[in-house]
Amino acid sequence: MSPHISDHNDGLLQRLQQFHADYFPLHQQRFQDLVAEGQHPKTLFIGCSDSRIVPYLLTGTGPGELFIVRNVGALVPPYDGSHGLHGTTAGIEFAVLQLKVRQIIVCGHSHCGAIRAAYEGVPDEAKALQSWLTLIDEALLPVQPCAEALLRTEQRSIVLQLERLMDYPMVGRAVAAGELTLHGWHYVIEDGDVHVFDARRGEFIPASVATHIGAGPYGGIIQHHLQEKS
Ligand SMILES: [Zn+2]
Repeated sequence: MSPHISDHNDGLLQRLQQFHADYFPLHQQRFQDLVAEGQHPKTLFIGCSDSRIVPYLLTGTGPGELFIVRNVGALVPPYDGSHGLHGTTAGIEFAVLQLKVRQIIVCGHSHCGAIRAAYEGVPDEAKALQSWLTLIDEALLPVQPCAEALLRTEQRSIVLQLERLMDYPMVGRAVAAGELTLHGWHYVIEDGDVHVFDARRGEFIPASVATHIGAGPYGGIIQHHLQEKS
């Protein structure tokens, strides 16, 4: 292998080889069990694509534990019952109907480029991105996007996505049946702390002092939060 090739790829081939040589032998049994028994993750993690979010690191989980859907902004499109090519919607349907996950986490984060772009715009050529970011519109504040406003918008967007999740028939049904809970997390990268949305208090609480991972927020409570904080 010539060194300059690996340079251009972040050393990815070497890392693949290391995974196979070092990590895999230590965890081989676990991987084989997961193949033999299939995956039974209890959690759907909807996270922003941002490279600084590492769900396994944050939650101390490993193979088989998280079903992950990531996209720009950790956004949930409105449920419209269509047969369109909606990757995030398909992921939610698969997780809830097929895997029967017990909880859904929507995880946004500090310094989110998607939230900033919702205020500042994106290149003209990025048509799909432009449309996609309208999923943040209702969370935007009528102010200049200073650091404080951006952080509040990140949190408001998480709550907004939870609200949209509740409009998915299979989600609403499972929540009503007590089989599924929804959770909003805001990961503050610089503090190493995840703030969990406490629906009863209507605010985000640092996980370091929280007593639960955020109660499932439902309908009216979310509306109230969005109105009060706007
Ligand atoms: Zn982001």
